Amino acid sequence: MHIFSQPSDVVAWRLSQQTCPIVLVPTMGALHRGHLELIREAKKTVGPHGRVIISIFVNPLQFDRALDLSSYPKPLKDDLALCEEEAVDAVFCPAEKSMYADGHSIQIHETLLSRGLCGATRPGHFSGVCTVVLKLFMITGCTAAVFGCKDFQQLAIIQRMIRDLNLPVKIIAYPTVRETDGLAMSSRNTRLTPSHRADAPRIYQSLTAAAPIHEVPQMISAAEKILLDGEITRIDYLEHVDAETLQPALNRTRPSVLAAAVYYDDVRLIDHIDLPAIH
Ligand code: AMP
Repeated sequence: MHIFSQPSDVVAWRLSQQTCPIVLVPTMGALHRGHLELIREAKKTVGPHGRVIISIFVNPLQFDRALDLSSYPKPLKDDLALCEEEAVDAVFCPAEKSMYADGHSIQIHETLLSRGLCGATRPGHFSGVCTVVLKLFMITGCTAAVFGCKDFQQLAIIQRMIRDLNLPVKIIAYPTVRETDGLAMSSRNTRLTPSHRADAPRIYQSLTAAAPIHEVPQMISAAEKILLDGEITRIDYLEHVDAETLQPALNRTRPSVLAAAVYYDDVRLIDHIDLPAIH
């Protein structure tokens, strides 16, 4: 397994792979089973003659809170061991300085899908995401990349970036991987106190319990009640949006998404559920 810390080394590596297809799995590390399933999907997609590269980079540009960035877990040694076990071909784990030159001044701004949900409460987050993902596409020369549906707004924005900038990268969307109690796996889960960890399955429970309710205001109230009944410090948002435009949806005549972001102390967790159109 190759371990690269410099973008130029990744470029030299992929040029040496000639026409091999390359699948990228971008991550911020602290790898859990969700990430590993993405890696396995990448390996399956690329086949025996392709290459899989994982990036591990806690991208400062996408963090809007200094504490969230400084407390983000960074178990690089464990992550590399897991990548080795999964037999990935290469890992790219750059230092901040090798990704962002002093005085870097160009970023990618998505202007529509990023207005609401996480974009509304995390200013600059999706510009940071788009910028780093575009850089990773350019550096790795990947032909495809695997993203988790868990971050569904991120997935929609990356797909929009690919369309609007004509990027020759195929996106593979992988379903949310959950703990047995339903909590969506996340690198941030390790930062929950034991009592918050025990309470956190209520996020997904609130969404699944509300999903059968057809009237949107009642559906949101039902989910909100379950969220507020527990130990959640505060709800960042609980919204029902159109699955395609991500704009608030007042009814369920089109496929839609019920999405939540909540805080346990300073740990922010997100989850969502896809809802079919009701006619
Ligand atoms: P992160 O390291 O949190 O930036 O995530 C890296 C990639 O893994 C993103 O495409 C995420 O959507 C995906 N991912 C994270 N957690 C999960 C999960 N529980 N299930 C599926 N994909 C996930």
